[in-house]
Amino acid sequence: MKSPMDSVRFTCQPGCIKCCEQKGFVYLTEDDLKRAAAFVEMTPRAFEKKYVYRTAHELRFRKPREKQCPFLLEDGCSIHPAKPMQCRAFPFWGELLDSRKEWNRTARYCPGIGKGPLIQIAAARRMGGE
Ligand code: SF4
Repeated sequence: MKSPMDSVRFTCQPGCIKCCEQKGFVYLTEDDLKRAAAFVEMTPRAFEKKYVYRTAHELRFRKPREKQCPFLLEDGCSIHPAKPMQCRAFPFWGELLDSRKEWNRTARYCPGIGKGPLIQIAAARRMGGE
């Protein structure tokens, strides 16, 4: 889809965890599951049993009470080097790059949006895994 924007600015801000605190689910690919399981030194099977909710169509982390993700600690993501693609790709999600309104709405909580060098939309899409 053609983006309404030619380029965007974004640089993640150290110490910030605002995106992880937004209401929503963290969806996983099968590779995400294996990578995160290896990172916490569990078998994929044991990891899935403890942390993952699987339906016929998707995998997502089970949500603990009072927070959005089982791996979010006060000082940040506890599986950062092995975090799921959805988290790594933020904010370069297609649904945000496809809509200036959604991008601007996201900028209200993400202080990294609008900072740093200009990134062409095609490059942003690649960073987002498209
Ligand atoms: S909200 Fe934005 S700046 Fe903050 S951690 Fe997430 S991506 Fe980085």
